[in-house]
Amino acid sequence: MRITIVGAGYTGSTLATELATSHDTDLDVCLVGTPGNFGGGVAYGDARGEHLLNARAGHLGATADKPAGFARWLNLSERARDAFLPRVAYGEYLLDRLHEAEVASTNLTSLENEVIEIDRVHGKGYRVHLDDGSSFMSDRVVLAVGTLPPQRLPGVGPRLARHSRYIASPWQEGDLDRIDRDAELLIVGTGLTMVDIVATLNRRGHRGRIVALSRHGLLPQRHTEAPADPVELPPNLRKALRESDLHALVSAVRSVTRVVDDWRVVIDAIRPEIQACWRGMSQTQRGRFLRHVRAYWESHRHRMPPKAAAEIDDAIASGQLRIVSGRLLRAGITDTGLSALIRPRGSVDAERHDFDMLIRATGMDTDITRTTHPLIQHLVAAGTLQPDPLGLGVRVSPHFEVLDADGQPVSGLYCVGALARGDCWELTAINELRSATWGLSRRLRAAAGLAARDDDAGNDGHGTGDGSAHGDDSDLPTPRGMAPAARTGSTVWPSVR
Ligand SMILES: Cc1cc2nc3c(=O)[nH]c(=O)nc-3n(C[C@H](O)[C@H](O)[C@H](O)COP(=O)(O)OP(=O)(O)OC[C@H]3O[C@@H](n4cnc5c(N)ncnc54)[C@H](O)[C@@H]3O)c2cc1C
Repeated sequence: MRITIVGAGYTGSTLATELATSHDTDLDVCLVGTPGNFGGGVAYGDARGEHLLNARAGHLGATADKPAGFARWLNLSERARDAFLPRVAYGEYLLDRLHEAEVASTNLTSLENEVIEIDRVHGKGYRVHLDDGSSFMSDRVVLAVGTLPPQRLPGVGPRLARHSRYIASPWQEGDLDRIDRDAELLIVGTGLTMVDIVATLNRRGHRGRIVALSRHGLLPQRHTEAPADPVELPPNLRKALRESDLHALVSAVRSVTRVVDDWRVVIDAIRPEIQACWRGMSQTQRGRFLRHVRAYWESHRHRMPPKAAAEIDDAIASGQLRIVSGRLLRAGITDTGLSALIRPRGSVDAERHDFDMLIRATGMDTDITRTTHPLIQHLVAAGTLQPDPLGLGVRVSPHFEVLDADGQPVSGLYCVGALARGDCWELTAINELRSATWGLSRRLRAAAGLAARDDDAGNDGHGTGDGSAHGDDSDLPTPRGMAPAARTGSTVWPSVR
């Protein structure tokens, strides 16, 4: 059975590695990713030395069965396992694992290409089209494409959106390097992306004033140097999670965090339960969460490493960085720079401020109805993907099979990662992604076993029998590029009504 994985960041490369090293000879794994992004993807592959992981090294093993795998790969001492290391080291670890799998496995093909279309071929699986004009058949396809290209910030007009004074993605190589050291900057977003930007500006000796703006003006909370002991969740909190009762959940979190020594352990204990809790919520409740709770959840859940927090503290204390709560109404180019109309939170009047540059740091884009991503546009137009009603991505079944425009599971087409957060909420960080890839790899292997038995019985259902792409790799394009073995603080919570 051929499985094609689209996207070779953490999710795609880990899934490919798990499948290719599973010794299942029935599997033929094809990993297709954009050039230069294999292994680390956007988060780890493109990171700079000053960008730190937001989780302790000892917990970041790539697979669910070996949570200490990263620390062991680095030969870290017990004490060093609590450290927050540079993200670039994690990218190297992921790439190394992928290379090892390529060397060890004869059934993994890595292709440096973009997948631009995927067509369902009745009874035969999927035809996968690459941007070089070639195509091949696959029995199953996993979309592991991460987030979507940055969408335009509300209030930013088309002229500014194309102008060099606007940085749509701070991860675009070289973009932060073209900022003049004395430039006055408006960063829209006050989360971890903003924290990374400030770290890079510091490294470059930035002297200009920086305003960081978000609706609530909430900074990420900070990690402690040493982790606190885990806690058991109290019955009222467990009940609220089990019953997907948002109102009860928020009040239980509020009361529990008041009595524990460190609120972080409560958030960490809730995290593994969030997907099930989210699945049980109605769309109305999910919408309520997004409106009233999300900003607080994210600031407590996505925390800054202590070193990054100290840099932010220093920048605020020196007066260079100002955190503002409010909304960007409009931003446009002027003769000397750019002008931004900002309405401070709680005010009816807007204020005009001048800056030299505007940097968008608002986080993940997952609204598939507004995207310019060619493959996702194609799949939406074909009715193969159903947009999440809250704009969070694509609808998926509990086993990550995508749902089509009629809400029916599309047999053999999966989506795992940030685009599936509409049905999972927490599916963006290593912890959750590794459980998801672990489960999906097991399902795919089980499906391969089934396919083999069905073949024996003469069944020619989906992806099996005559229609199977298994073993027929003559239509796979020649892999390239992947040497050597490409072929072979606060506990304040909002109230929710
Ligand atoms: C800056 C940043 C820092 C982060 N830091 C942390 C952290 O410290 N800890 C943590 O747990 N999580 C962190 N995260 C979350 C992070 O997103 C996940 O940990 C993980 O890296 C996501 O991996 P992914 O493979 O799902 O997506 P990505 O890494 O985005 O990979 C998807 C890949 O698919 C490719 N692709 C897209 N479309 C196609 C196509 N049509 N054809 C071929 N290839 C395609 C993309 O180019 C990309 O390379 C961070 C995220 C970001 C953005």
